[in-house]
Amino acid sequence: MQILNGKETALTIREELKVEIDGLKAKHGRAPGLAVILVGEDPASQVYVRNKEIACEKAGIVSTAHRIDASVSQEELEALIQKLNADETIDGILLQLPLPKGLDSQRCLELIDPGKDVDGFHPMNVGKLMLGLPGFRSCTPAGIITLLERYNLPTSGKKAVVVGRSNIVGKPLAMMLMQYGDFANATVTVCHSRTDNLAEEVKAADFVFAAIGIPKFIKKEMVKNGAVVVDVGINRTDEGLVGDCDYAALEDVASAMTPVPGGVGPMTIAQLLINTVQAYKEHVGA
Ligand code: NAD
Repeated sequence: MQILNGKETALTIREELKVEIDGLKAKHGRAPGLAVILVGEDPASQVYVRNKEIACEKAGIVSTAHRIDASVSQEELEALIQKLNADETIDGILLQLPLPKGLDSQRCLELIDPGKDVDGFHPMNVGKLMLGLPGFRSCTPAGIITLLERYNLPTSGKKAVVVGRSNIVGKPLAMMLMQYGDFANATVTVCHSRTDNLAEEVKAADFVFAAIGIPKFIKKEMVKNGAVVVDVGINRTDEGLVGDCDYAALEDVASAMTPVPGGVGPMTIAQLLINTVQAYKEHVGA
C-alpha cells in the first residue's frame, strides 16, 4: 500500500511557496499577510492556530493572530473583521471555528471580504465552487485534491464516496470531485448519518473519503480491493490521534491511504498558504 504522506507533501509545497513568495516580495515590496482570529481558549483551536502561524512564518507569510477573550461581543468581533477587511496589508482573514456560544459564526463569515476569504467559507466562494468558477476553495477538501494531484491519482471517471456532509469538508469535497478536471470528473456518492446500506455504498468506491469524526468507522470489509482511501478524521482517543478509518486493517485492501496524523491535516495548512498567496497575487496584481 502506498502511503499518501501529507506531511512530506505539505513541506515540499511550503518550500516551493517560500521561493515564490521571496520573488513576489522583492517585486511588490511587501509579504503576503494573513490575519487569524481566535476567540476563546478551545485547546484544539489553539494548536491549529499555532501550527498555522508556524507554517506561515516558514513560508514567508506575515501572520497576525488576534487572540480574543471569549467575552467579546458580536459587535466587537464584527468591528475587528471590518478593520481587517480595510487593511491593505492583510490578504487573508481566517476566523478559527468553532466560536464560543453566543457568537454568530455565520454572520461573521459572511462579513469577511470574499476576496480575503482564504478559508473559502463565504457564501460567495461556496457559490463559485458550485458553479465551477474560480474562487477560494475550503482548505481541507482543496488540500485533499492537491494531495491526489501530487501523487498522480486522478479521480476522473472513477466512483468516489464521500462519507460526511459537513459544510467544511464533506459537501465542498463532493462538489470539487464532480467538477471538470483530471482530479475531479468523479461519479460522486455522498453518505451521511441517515444513509441506508452505507457499507455497500463505500464498497463500490474506487476512492473513499472519510470525514465523519468517529474513530475507525471505516472497516476493512467495507472497502473494495485496491481502493484509494483518504482519512480526514482527527479523533483524540486513549490510543492518541486516530482517524475515521481502521488504518492497520485497511493496509491489506487499500492501494493508497493517508495516515492520521500526517495525512490530510498538514495538507489543510498547506492549502491555506496556497490560498493566501492566491489572495495576495490578486491584491498586488501579480
Ligand atoms: P461534522 O461533525 O460537521 O460532520 C460529520 C459528518 O459525518 C456529518 O455530516 C454526519 O452526517 C456524518 N456522520 C456522523 N455519524 C455518521 C454515521 N454513523 N454514519 C455515517 N455518517 C455519519 O464533522 P467535520 O467537521 O466534517 O469533520 C469530520 C472529521 O474530520 C472530524 O474528525 C474532524 O476532526 C476532522 N477534520 C479534519 C480536518 C483536517 O484538517 N484533517 C479538517 C476538518 C475536520
